[in-house]
Amino acid sequence: MSRQMIAGNWKMNGLTAEADALAAALLRGVGERAGAPGAELLVCPPFTQIAAVSRLLAGSDIRVGGQDCSMHEKGAHTGDVSPSMLRDLGATHVILGHSERRQNHNELDETVREKCVAARRAGLVPIVCVGETAEQRSADGHEETVGWQLKGSLPDGFADEEAIVAYEPVWAIGTGRTATAEDVAAMHGFIRAELKRQFSESGEKVRILYGGSVNAGNAATLLAIPEVGGALVGGASLKPDDFLQILSAAQ
Ligand code: PEP
Repeated sequence: MSRQMIAGNWKMNGLTAEADALAAALLRGVGERAGAPGAELLVCPPFTQIAAVSRLLAGSDIRVGGQDCSMHEKGAHTGDVSPSMLRDLGATHVILGHSERRQNHNELDETVREKCVAARRAGLVPIVCVGETAEQRSADGHEETVGWQLKGSLPDGFADEEAIVAYEPVWAIGTGRTATAEDVAAMHGFIRAELKRQFSESGEKVRILYGGSVNAGNAATLLAIPEVGGALVGGASLKPDDFLQILSAAQ
């Protein structure tokens, strides 16, 4: 199995001074761990900070990603940012279909799939988020929901060595409630089986991250679960000490 990935989603946080300080603290922390085996590290600042953070982290092992991108390459799309614009700023990855985009911007699986195609065409690695709401879980519809999201959001040819899916139960995001180890194991197993159904043996290659209130205290337990290929971290990624502790818990 490939190295785990710890990805930080800064969401809409970070004016210049804060973003610079956060990137500098991560750089120091990773420098102090030099030689330690470890996970791949990715930070996804808001659009406005990607260029500066990429410059600060240039030459380090910390990668930079976007939190969303357009499905279009250029043109009359006021306010949108194309995948190649992200690449141009130094981004290597992009989060797509985060539940906050699905909820607040009405993003459908088809939208996520088209963005995914555009991101891959521009040379970005998409991190495609799926996950059920509390209502869907309590009605026992979590597998059906996630199954449909995978079918609808992942384009043909998605499952290569770099491909990443993040399972993020909506009710665990920013709430301090994490899924139980049993639920995470069951859902990651389900996602793996669905990926194999969709992409045959290539489905084995996809890294499956867990996201939802991962913190320094629970990371070791969550990251030790079979089929957990890393973590997508929101709130705790804004605290460098916590984020570095999560990194230390990874394999
Ligand atoms: C996220 O936004 O992707 C996330 C997992 O947030 P948090 O870690 O704060 O729950």
